[in-house]
Amino acid sequence: MRYLITGGAGFIGSHLTEYLLGLGHEVTVLDDLSTGSRANLPAAGTETGLRFVEGDVCDPGTVDTAMEGVDAVFHLAAAVGVFTILDKTLSSLRTNLTGTETALEAARRHGTPILVASTSEVYGKNTKDGLREDDDRIVGSPLLNRWSYAEAKALDETFAYLYSAELGLSTVIVRLFNTVGPRQTGRYGMVVPRFVEQALADEPITVFGDGQQSRCFCHVSDVVPALVALLADRSTHGTVYNLGSSEQVTITELAKRIISAAGSSSSIEMVPYEKAYGPGFEDMQRRIPDCGKARAAVGFAPSRTLDDIVAAVIAERREASDNALSG
Ligand code: NAD
Repeated sequence: MRYLITGGAGFIGSHLTEYLLGLGHEVTVLDDLSTGSRANLPAAGTETGLRFVEGDVCDPGTVDTAMEGVDAVFHLAAAVGVFTILDKTLSSLRTNLTGTETALEAARRHGTPILVASTSEVYGKNTKDGLREDDDRIVGSPLLNRWSYAEAKALDETFAYLYSAELGLSTVIVRLFNTVGPRQTGRYGMVVPRFVEQALADEPITVFGDGQQSRCFCHVSDVVPALVALLADRSTHGTVYNLGSSEQVTITELAKRIISAAGSSSSIEMVPYEKAYGPGFEDMQRRIPDCGKARAAVGFAPSRTLDDIVAAVIAERREASDNALSG
């Protein structure tokens, strides 16, 4: 099979690329390297089966050319991370709306099935225990920059759904809950790599808010095969699937576990949301998925625990700093 992965040089995209190449498929990655990195991917060439196109997913010509001869598309390119969204709200909104519409339109022209990556952020402040795909969204004001990511992703879902319902394109939407693992960068606000970097440097771990907010973290290696299975199975198309873990942890407890696993002497420093993100920031107290639909469709069942994830991220960061010292 030949796949196109937009955003394939990013965290999830690079793991997906590696997985598909490992199965003997050919992969074209389209990425503008805004938050992704070429170093996340193997060398391009016939030997590896990888083709790399540096370009903007909002550019119809670039996307159209990248999609030539492709059997299926994973659309992951997006402006991601709270810091990115708050720093560059307007351009992020454009990327997340125009990029998805451009990818869907090219897929329609080529008749190519496409998976669109959405997010648990679309549930907003709905804190129900076990969020299901048909649960209501509870979001704050559209004038709060923080919600612009959720707004854009929700519209992406509507676009993807309508391209399927009205235009007959094979689309599948996936709502990813917090997905973590090696290669994720803490630069744009992702909490696990940020805490691990602080712990390994024995710096204070900065917990935003009261630390009692809880999240469920899923290892990227559990998510990637489910993405592939959902796109491969035509019976799943035309609808949306949650993918995530149901193992809950508060953010303060996460900081403690990372300190302990890293053998760090870091303290924990509480930072009010206002100081971390500016005035008017809203967050949700918890976000737990019900992934029964993905389990029934493709047998989705995460096998890695939070402790496995923390250990893997610490090991990766230690290896990277050892390599930097020796090289
Ligand atoms: P990431 O930032 O590592 O990946 C996004 C990739 O898209 C990067 O490589 C970036 O360079 C690329 N990109 C951004 N704008 C682009 C543009 N205009 N043209 C081409 N490429 C562009 O983040 P990720 O965590 O790997 O996220 C991948 C997808 O999964 C995103 O759609 C994101 O919204 C979604 N998602 C991720 C999580 C998570 O916890 N990691 C949760 C929910 C949803």
